[in-house]
Amino acid sequence: MEYVSTRGSAPALDFAGATLAGLASDGGLYLPREWPRFTAAEIAAMAGLPYAELAARVMLPFVEGSLSYERLLELTRAAYGRFAHKAVTPLKQLDEQQWLLELFHGPTLAFKDVALQLLGLLFEEFLGRSDQNLTIVGATSGDTGSAAIDAVAGRGKIDIFMIHPKGRVSDVQRRQMTTVLAPNVHNIAIEGTFDDAQAMVKRMFNDTAMTGRFNIGAVNSINWARLMAQVVYYFAAGLQLGAPHRPVAFAVPTGNFGDVFAGYVAAQMGLPIERLIVATNVNDILHRALSNGDYSAGTVTPTAAPSMDIQVSSNFERLLFDLGGRDGKALAGQMAGFEASKAMRLTNAQLEGAAKLFSSERADANDMARAIRWGWDSAGELLDPHTAIGLHAARKAGIAREIPVVTLATAHPAKFRDAVERATGQRPQLPSRVGDLFDREERCTELPGDYAAVTDYVTTHAVPRAG
Ligand SMILES: *Cc1c(COP(=O)(O)O)cnc(C)c1O
Repeated sequence: MEYVSTRGSAPALDFAGATLAGLASDGGLYLPREWPRFTAAEIAAMAGLPYAELAARVMLPFVEGSLSYERLLELTRAAYGRFAHKAVTPLKQLDEQQWLLELFHGPTLAFKDVALQLLGLLFEEFLGRSDQNLTIVGATSGDTGSAAIDAVAGRGKIDIFMIHPKGRVSDVQRRQMTTVLAPNVHNIAIEGTFDDAQAMVKRMFNDTAMTGRFNIGAVNSINWARLMAQVVYYFAAGLQLGAPHRPVAFAVPTGNFGDVFAGYVAAQMGLPIERLIVATNVNDILHRALSNGDYSAGTVTPTAAPSMDIQVSSNFERLLFDLGGRDGKALAGQMAGFEASKAMRLTNAQLEGAAKLFSSERADANDMARAIRWGWDSAGELLDPHTAIGLHAARKAGIAREIPVVTLATAHPAKFRDAVERATGQRPQLPSRVGDLFDREERCTELPGDYAAVTDYVTTHAVPRAG
């Protein structure tokens, strides 16, 4: 499969190239040149497969040319063998219509593990074929950082620099990053917001002083391989609930639009999806964009669901590209306008195209707390704040009764214990797999929210590209 940039001027790459590159050199994001499509019979034949096998089947069309089916299956078995639940992403029923897809059984308790455990292995595989080192630079509102660090800690030929907004991640999230003391792991806390951190990372990818010296890689969901791995659990849930014979709706707690975009990809591949419900908190740029075409960034309001405290959703660009007839030049112009003014209007084609599959809901702090309480009182489930926002949206979306609605449970409730306890009086227990997190030594470098300070730090600590 060949990968093309959403901004139309970077060279096309194969899967291995797109995985190592992360962001395209023209500032765009890579997407497969075309969507592979399964027939209904092919989808039906996937029912009942173990997760690692389903993953290899769903992802094979995307990796062709870079990995064989057999090798891909070895990698998915290794990645998903580390999950605490044999089903990897088990499905739970909440009431007649509502379901939860539990995506938090990986090592760091959030759905990011599903993609990043595989991505760590893909990096190792592709770097092993070359003489390159990889300098991963990432921004995190909490969960990406811990999942990426777990996935690459101690791996050869990789250094990871993970930037988080100081004081704006939960204590569990911070410790999951800062207590990993492997020498290739570098935690940086900056003064500022997640959007500031993400803007620095994007700038570094386009900074020839950095890219000339270091082989910079991405673990944020701008990396296509992450989205690809997330497509799989939409198939897993759909198949359990009757696909390809019955459509399913999904409600997705959304920040950077990566997870829900994977649902869009599943739909392009033939999975019958009735609706993708984009759930936002009060940082609602996506809700405004999808309901009336107004994609304009406000300032970030910190909430109890920090992984959704985002005003610029990187992956939305992928959807706009696909809905706008894949015209890279036009999209590059649209994005340049957005980058200059922090606001843009969707075109009618984009707005109408999105409306066919997507709807959106916004939840404030009360909506979230009420959804956590509903989960506990009505279904006996403790929900983390992100998942609760998803469930709030799922129940409000007005999906026909006969269609199951699956909320993606994106984090374990223990990762956000204080918010869960405030809503329910119950304090969720950390699962034993996280061990003695609160007794371990932490290591982290604090820097001002200043691009030069961060690049200086990376330059001093990273290994330059080989050759
Ligand atoms: C990252 C994250 C999200 C948002 O996912 P996107 O792919 O960025 O939209 C939602 N919930 C949790 C718990 C997360 O870690």
